Amino acid sequence: DRSATVIGAGLAGCEAAWQLAEREIHVRLIEMKPHKMSPAHHSDQFAELVCSNSFRGDRLTNAVGLLKEEMRILGSLIMRCADETKVPAGGALAVDRDSFSAHVTKAITEHPLIEQIHEEAVSIPDGPVIIATGPLTSDAFAEVIRSLPGMSTLNFYDAAAPIVFRESLDESKLFRLSRYNRGNDYLNAPMTEEEYTVFINELINAETAEIHGFEENRVFEGCMPIESMAKRGFMVPAFGPMKPVGLADPRTGKEPFAVVQLRQDNASDTMYNLVGFQTRLKFGEQKRVFGLIPGLEHAEYARYGVMHRNTFLNSPGFLNSSFEMINRKQCFFAGQITGVEGYVESAGSGLVAGMTLAAELNETEIPVFPSCTALGAMGKHVSTPNPNFQPMNCSFGLIDPLPVIPGEKRLKKKQDRYEAVAQRSLSCIRTIQSQTGGK
Ligand code: FAD
Repeated sequence: DRSATVIGAGLAGCEAAWQLAEREIHVRLIEMKPHKMSPAHHSDQFAELVCSNSFRGDRLTNAVGLLKEEMRILGSLIMRCADETKVPAGGALAVDRDSFSAHVTKAITEHPLIEQIHEEAVSIPDGPVIIATGPLTSDAFAEVIRSLPGMSTLNFYDAAAPIVFRESLDESKLFRLSRYNRGNDYLNAPMTEEEYTVFINELINAETAEIHGFEENRVFEGCMPIESMAKRGFMVPAFGPMKPVGLADPRTGKEPFAVVQLRQDNASDTMYNLVGFQTRLKFGEQKRVFGLIPGLEHAEYARYGVMHRNTFLNSPGFLNSSFEMINRKQCFFAGQITGVEGYVESAGSGLVAGMTLAAELNETEIPVFPSCTALGAMGKHVSTPNPNFQPMNCSFGLIDPLPVIPGEKRLKKKQDRYEAVAQRSLSCIRTIQSQTGGK
């Protein structure tokens, strides 16, 4: 009798339970709703969408669109239910949230191999388990997770600065230097006093995201939003993260009035984060206001800055790229708690964890998702050492780029490159499906 426990029946937990059950594994699915609700969950259905009803872009030239297609090929329950309940939304996939959750709940309830247990998990059971309790994991269970072997940090708050794609920057306006000439690691955007004045004025007047009732409005001194700093005083950012000290512009030999520093964010050097720019500005406002920084006029964002409650593991060193604990075999994590970000990404990690655990229990071929696929790229993100580890949406910045073949021209248009990356990934996923797929 092969069996496993899945804790949490959200996006990731339902997908993981489904993948296991479709591979003949008996599943005990533990969900605390409706007895206990997180501050953002209100319905008694599974896979509740706590905020937007959008699963974002659905085209293959959009990384989350590619991720969706990979999941469809692999028999994802979440994607099937999303497709069945979609509402018109242009190039995006949006769903009727109640029907979506009802479809997922029905499929799980009717599956003969899934047993439901409605209680709060307060310990991790022995034996094979997938933990998918989400960004609002109950407090008692978060304490249990925190005491697991090999756990370095369990974060309760997400205070992340925006990350931009390098290729969208105008590097002619930036200069490379580390403070006090200690190398060349940073890209620096110098600002004149006039530019700084305009920027600060726009920053303090920009619209910020709504703070949910359960999120504290207090700011932590160590990670204060950049707009809060600016509201404390016009020069506060210029004495803080924007200080120009030790950053003389090599082109003028002088320190500018203020500087925005950009730090490399991934090994392939395609993404940079704005150092010290954690923010609550609305996403559109980030594009507008940070677009006033020289060189960032046309910046594209791999992730916008956010500050909200979010329980997530410091996964690198704790999980491997299949979302399995390094120190405890057959104990997996899935969903937002692993450091992926978003509904589809959460479900995608549940799919990988479920497929992998099923293969381990059935002693069949273990699926390996390479980082040229969107699913594999997320596994790489959570398992690659990164001192600045933060939850990330799936993006082409995380997926392996096309190889450079000597003598062959690089595809000029970005859309054509993304299309080629997508086709390469889908053929890889089809192979994985034929070797390790379920029913
Ligand atoms: P969840 O879907 O939250 O599922 C976790 C489940 O575990 C829940 O059902 C919960 O009740 C249960 N649970 C928790 N603790 C226990 C326990 N101890 N025992 C048993 N069960 C437990 N992403 C987007 O793509 N778009 C958005 O608009 C969006 N808005 C968000 C808004 C908020 C306020 C938050 C916090 C996150 C948002 N996210 C959004 C991010 C993320 O994609 C979602 O939170 C997503 O639901 C995460 O999926 P999950 O499966 O990891 O967790």
